[in-house]
Amino acid sequence: MLSQVVELIETKRRFAITSHIRPDGDSLGSSLGLYWLLLALDKDVEVIMRDAVPHAYQKLPGTEAVRVTPRVDRQYDAVFVIECSDITRPGLIDLERQFVVNIDHHSTTALFGDINWIDSTASAVGEMIYNLCKALGVRVTSEIAECVYTALITDTGSFHYSNTSERTFKVASELVRAGVKPAKVSQAVFANYPWSKIELFAEVIATVKRDASGQVAWLVQTQEMQERAHATDEDGDGFVNYPMSCGDVEACAFFKETAPGAYRVSLRSKCDVNVARIAERFGGGGHRNAAGCTFNGTWEEAEREVVGQLVEAVGGRGSNGAGTTEQRASNNGNGSIADASEESGDVLAAAERIRAERDARP
Ligand code: 5GP
Ligand code: MN
Repeated sequence: MLSQVVELIETKRRFAITSHIRPDGDSLGSSLGLYWLLLALDKDVEVIMRDAVPHAYQKLPGTEAVRVTPRVDRQYDAVFVIECSDITRPGLIDLERQFVVNIDHHSTTALFGDINWIDSTASAVGEMIYNLCKALGVRVTSEIAECVYTALITDTGSFHYSNTSERTFKVASELVRAGVKPAKVSQAVFANYPWSKIELFAEVIATVKRDASGQVAWLVQTQEMQERAHATDEDGDGFVNYPMSCGDVEACAFFKETAPGAYRVSLRSKCDVNVARIAERFGGGGHRNAAGCTFNGTWEEAEREVVGQLVEAVGGRGSNGAGTTEQRASNNGNGSIADASEESGDVLAAAERIRAERDARP
């Protein structure tokens, strides 16, 4: 939990930070935010990732310091693993040999770390990094602020999703006060795409379908489409959101063919449709309203099985809120968010308490 992370940082000095393969806004923003935080404390720190920084995040401060490596090839006092459901998600060989600190806000995470700080009420891990900053009494520099702000806007869909809370706005407001220019960050992340993405989108959106109820939509990107558009691996990111902008659509699946017979699946939903539980059935995970998995099989199988599950989940929602109750039960029952309740009350207050205790020390 938070107090253990604070103590570790105060007593050790050689750290690495990593996150999941194909890093996104929260994983990079939070990793780099923590990087600047540790630098501010004069720690010896580096960010190591299996995959390179995607185009959309290359303007974040500190990206040039990210070391791309397939293996944890140095010994650290601790490695912070950001936003990962299990120890294999970073895709780094020998990670399990290190002292691991698991920092995540997914309710589906396994407690794989030597220290686990999980706060499923945080809209993004970035929010937790901000709290850590407060708990350590470190001034929020413009670098920390920009990184954490990027984490917030990407994981909340620019404050559109249901994970957006009063606390998210409170933190965002503090970050703006610390020097973030919201329009500049949004422009860099959401309005800086290559034309190949638009060409690819033109093909992918043409595949969109809906089920008979009109509430479930899905679309697919093949390898051929990607080649024709000269598109990169990340160009398909976000396509899943377009059908969701239709008022009738409650859930959407985007299938991206990554090899013959292999699909990366992105799932999105509104309200009480829990797509994380569907992703988990296929070996993936995520949040209630945004999740992902990999499907190995033919296109027909992928469509039948994944879309079939979505149609069932959307159609099976009870008007008595059964889905919500069930989700609560599963969160409490699987033991994977053991520490969350302690942290979830008011994390800012907890951070301030820890800082006060720290300041009171001789
Ligand atoms: P996306 O659809 O944007 O790739 O992923 C949406 C959410 O689901 C993210 O929070 C991401 O971390 C999670 N997610 C995506 N793919 C996987 C996966 O294969 N395993 C797990 N555990 N989570 C995933
Ligand atoms: Mn996240």
